[in-house]
Amino acid sequence: MRQVMAEITLARSSGFCFGVQRAVSLLESELDNTAEKKSIYCIGEIIHNKTFNDSIKQRGVKTIEPDEIDSLPYDAIVFIRTHGVTKQVYERLENKGIAFIDATCPFVKKAHRIVENQPEGTTVIIMGDRNHPEVHGIQSFAKGKVLIFSDCEEMKQRLPAEINTEEQLVLIAQTTYNITEWENCQKFIKYLYTNTRIFDTICSVTDERQKEVLSLSKVNDLVVVVGGKSSSNTAKLYRIAAENCQNALYIETANELSDASPHIFKTAKKIAITAGASTPCSIIQEVLKTMTDITNAELSFAEMLDQSFKTLNTGERVTGVISSVSPAEIHVDLGTKHTGILPYDEITNDSGVDLEQDYHVGDPIDVVCIKFNDVEGTVLLSKKRIDQSKHWLVIQQAAEDGSTINGTVREIIRGGVIVNVQTVKVFVPASQTGIPRDGNLDQLKGQKVGIKIIEINDQRKRAVGSIRNAARSVRKKDTEEFFTTAEVGQRFTGTVRSLTNYGAFVNIGPVDGMVHITELSWGRLKPPSELFAVGDQIEVYIKNINIEKKRISLGYKTEENNPWKIFEDKYKVDDIVDATIVSLMPFGAFAEIIPGVDGLIHNTQIAAKPVGNPASVLKLGDKVTAKITAIDLEKSRVSLSIKALLDGIEGDFSTSPEDTVSDEAAEPVIEETAPVAEEVTAAEESAPIAEEAAPVTEEAVKAPAE
Ligand code: SF4
Repeated sequence: MRQVMAEITLARSSGFCFGVQRAVSLLESELDNTAEKKSIYCIGEIIHNKTFNDSIKQRGVKTIEPDEIDSLPYDAIVFIRTHGVTKQVYERLENKGIAFIDATCPFVKKAHRIVENQPEGTTVIIMGDRNHPEVHGIQSFAKGKVLIFSDCEEMKQRLPAEINTEEQLVLIAQTTYNITEWENCQKFIKYLYTNTRIFDTICSVTDERQKEVLSLSKVNDLVVVVGGKSSSNTAKLYRIAAENCQNALYIETANELSDASPHIFKTAKKIAITAGASTPCSIIQEVLKTMTDITNAELSFAEMLDQSFKTLNTGERVTGVISSVSPAEIHVDLGTKHTGILPYDEITNDSGVDLEQDYHVGDPIDVVCIKFNDVEGTVLLSKKRIDQSKHWLVIQQAAEDGSTINGTVREIIRGGVIVNVQTVKVFVPASQTGIPRDGNLDQLKGQKVGIKIIEINDQRKRAVGSIRNAARSVRKKDTEEFFTTAEVGQRFTGTVRSLTNYGAFVNIGPVDGMVHITELSWGRLKPPSELFAVGDQIEVYIKNINIEKKRISLGYKTEENNPWKIFEDKYKVDDIVDATIVSLMPFGAFAEIIPGVDGLIHNTQIAAKPVGNPASVLKLGDKVTAKITAIDLEKSRVSLSIKALLDGIEGDFSTSPEDTVSDEAAEPVIEETAPVAEEVTAAEESAPIAEEAAPVTEEAVKAPAE
């Protein structure tokens, strides 16, 4: 005989959810109205409960598979259960002209719509049971690739191999998916694939039930879960109970209680009973009664059931279905005699929301009852109050774990800006906006930003955030990611950030790298500011990586942009070219043929007769036409002659490449490699160059420490 009287708690969320209740009501009203000769065909079992299904079978409802649609009589009525069906089933019903009642749960419909509205090329990731009809339905609305993972571990294993980094990803969940697992999945995907759009499609009923069973499991000695064995949401309730309570039972009917070990009931002082979303009230009642008999508990069923299945009261939270939307208010069907009125002010604080665009008839909505008006038969509802407490939890969480949350800058106020994080207003001081002290905060207005919470006041529900810290942490994370994949030789299109005497700093996404001046040009070294302007886009590649210091140096010169290669492909000896005088020397003038390739017009080749000082006949910027008389690609030298083109003047143009002078060469090179023309004296060769500023040489450029 049992010594201790057990205390039994019935979960408040037990029994039919609003989706199932809606489907059952639709079916029952159809059964009441349908003439006897017509038959109702349900695609799959209406709910996962044998007792209920047997009862409607007796009333003439037949269960069929989707592929039996084609053999249905013309006057059949098809009933679509809460799980929904595939897009193809809708098409077949419409093509055959078969009438149907669509009891797809609004939560499931919402998931269909999300998937259907994704642009072509989007990869949809569904977390859920790939064999579940609801998942088949959601999958069928996708335009492109769909990946289905049962849990986070499977996603971690398979996802990297299934997608490429450029793919647009969307993550959604089966409506009854496990909440803890869903949170893990979101964390994983946010970390690795930051551009993923996440839609939380888990229904609030599932959320509430799972949370309630979790807390009951922790304080009871036994949890009894009542529901169909094929019911996905009931199975999840049982799994949570089994993981968190020493004893958990999963039964479909009260009869199965006798199969359990009597020891469990004898020792349990506290027992909780919960039931899946498709468990009828009558079965829960039966289980309660049997439990009382077994445990000798003194229970008032009426009281307990009243607690669980009560009608609406002020302050109660409830899920309804949107029945109409206007710019000023939304009407909500709560499944009771009262019409729910949800005014704009009780939806959001944000004045820029278009209700007709953001809310749709048929969608589920969570609200709290504020005030009943029995005369008018209405109840004033609020969504904002639920959202505010839910959204404040997000702020608290972000303050605790330092995560970044997203919001929109809505107001510029004295000393900073206000960022709306859903319904919570977060103050960001000017010093934390990332805008320089003398900058204009107005540029932030309307922008979507990431913020870190740096201060929180729970009592006053006030939070202070930092856009700067969030940007810094994004940059840090991106930098780390960059260095895990960066390789020498990897190419990027970068943006010139700043220019110095010794090179250009180029931004390639999360990092800046320096291109040394010697890497910027092939010919004579030129100051970087002559080559590029800040903001220019240039092609660069990684020359060196210092992973420890997270630094890179970049290269710019490549074979493709080697001007000597371009020159070689385009020109040959005896070609006539237009060139621009870019430098005047005592021994001749350098003329640019193409950017990076200058040819020397020796004093003897400038005019019909040798010229003593080139500056006496030419000046910088002059355009000249000359003949290529020699090319030495190895030494990067080209010789030009204007004289060769002058009519009636004979000359010796048989200059060998050895006679040519590199555009990089200074006079000593000429002395070594080219015969000195009669006119150029040693004194002239060593004379200072008046017209030109001293050319920039490699030696003159000291590479800064990295
Ligand atoms: S999605 Fe939620 S509300 Fe809809 S039928 Fe399933 S459990 Fe019920």
